[in-house]
Amino acid sequence: MIGEILMTVFQELALSRKVQQAIDEMGFEEPSPIQAACIPLVLEGRDVIGQAQTGTGKTAAFGIPLVERVTPESRVQALVLTPTRELAIQVAGEFRKIAKYKRVRTLPIYGGQSIGHQIRALQQGVQIVIGTPGRVLDHIRRGTLKLSNLRTVVLDEADEMLDMGFIDDIETILRETPAERQTLLFSATFTSDIKRLAVRYMKSPEHVTVNRGEVTVPLIDQVYYKVLERNKLESLCRIVDSEEVQLGIIFCRTKRGVDELVEALLARGYLVDGLHGDLSQAQRDRVMNKFRRSEVELLVATDVAARGIDVDNVTHVINYDIPQDPESYVHRIGRTGRAGKRGLAITLVTPREFKLLKQIERETKATLVAREVPSLADVAERQAEIWRNRIIEAIQDGGLGHYRAILGNIIDEHDPIDVACAALKLASAGELENQEEADYDFGDTGATPGMVRFFVNIGRTARISPGDLVRTISEEAGVPGQVVGKIDIFDRFTFVEIEEESAPFVYEALRQSRINGARVNMEPAKPRVRSR
Ligand code: ADP
Ligand code: MG
Repeated sequence: MIGEILMTVFQELALSRKVQQAIDEMGFEEPSPIQAACIPLVLEGRDVIGQAQTGTGKTAAFGIPLVERVTPESRVQALVLTPTRELAIQVAGEFRKIAKYKRVRTLPIYGGQSIGHQIRALQQGVQIVIGTPGRVLDHIRRGTLKLSNLRTVVLDEADEMLDMGFIDDIETILRETPAERQTLLFSATFTSDIKRLAVRYMKSPEHVTVNRGEVTVPLIDQVYYKVLERNKLESLCRIVDSEEVQLGIIFCRTKRGVDELVEALLARGYLVDGLHGDLSQAQRDRVMNKFRRSEVELLVATDVAARGIDVDNVTHVINYDIPQDPESYVHRIGRTGRAGKRGLAITLVTPREFKLLKQIERETKATLVAREVPSLADVAERQAEIWRNRIIEAIQDGGLGHYRAILGNIIDEHDPIDVACAALKLASAGELENQEEADYDFGDTGATPGMVRFFVNIGRTARISPGDLVRTISEEAGVPGQVVGKIDIFDRFTFVEIEEESAPFVYEALRQSRINGARVNMEPAKPRVRSR
């Protein structure tokens, strides 16, 4: 194989002058690792599986050699399949830049655009077609796209295409292409489905893997906040307030979740908009344009809607709902830290999701650093600081004579400090009021001081031991075993004491879980209970 380490500049790839000049103008100084490894192989005509995380430059890894190899003949020489319309457009854009000085006609074809327009464009003679599987198949069936002279097929973002259920379309398309074609497959992950596809349709492919750790991950700091389900929104706002978010994407699990969070954040004065599958293409374009132009600072999206979002300066990815599998975590956080910029990936974890977090860490081999949600006191201090600075600025700016006249003789009758405080109170319109933490209040549970005592509805008859209980509590809620205090196991129920600070987490995590297969119900204990 070609030495990846030696290959550090584009010049060593011996590209034609026209393509090299275009790359220089795109501002690419050196090939990314996936490009350094793939470009020579693709130029040789080999089948290649290129596996690297989102944002590592996979498009140019096939785009550069394909443009390099295109001949002036007016026939479709390469076909690139992408999962979404947005990606088709984006890839076509990147190809056009690479081909700036070489006459290559590229065409994106996707659903939602007039087919008549696409047919006319195809008739003009196109050399590289980039499209979504459904629309490509449509053109093949109409006889408007002929693949008999095709040299190369690229499956871009193959994992996403399979996730979106395009496998049958892809196989049908591949069967329409010449058997001696070159097949390239690019993907962030290498699942068993992709392996099966590769075995069936590729000829002794070279599998190029760029280790996640080497490329983008160092630029993405990964942190998590342990939050209570009931305080999730409040926690999110405090986290966002404590960060300098220029452009952020917030992920929710469902479309409804997106709508609700957008509403709630708008009500609190944040610049947000939402993106999900129920929006029309025109609505989606509108939202994306606002986001690109930084008219909204936070975009709330589902996983599916976020596919194909390609904005380079996303500073934060926030998992409001934790992703359900490690692959989706990798995809989500790959939306930040792109093109050599730093990014921060923040994950909110509720007590019941703690195990999922551990699984993500294990499978992505990443360590997420725990952070504490800023307390109300922290937030209040920050706001106080902001107001003090505003007042000082107003004094320095001068021009206060008019206001002095309005105050008139209040100063003679009232303490000037009181007057200033009253003015601040009015000006800040409640923003500086004392606020209470919306935490759990378990009341008096008859526990040892510093502890909360819980009633658990299973006991000796369910064969639980104190050891089982401590282990379950520790695993489910992600708290150390030491937070568990006195345990009293009776036949049909149990009392267990938990340190105050951990009690809300344990309560949320255990309320509806199972111990030894038995359904658990957990409630704060009543102060005085007679045991039988
Ligand atoms: P992927 O398909 O792996 O998710 P992309 O091909 O979309 O990644 O590339 C991500 C970003 O990195 C794009 O903005 C692209 O223009 C940029 N990029 C790609 N290759 C290079 C390079 N060699 N040098 C600098 N930027 C690059
Ligand atoms: Mg890509």
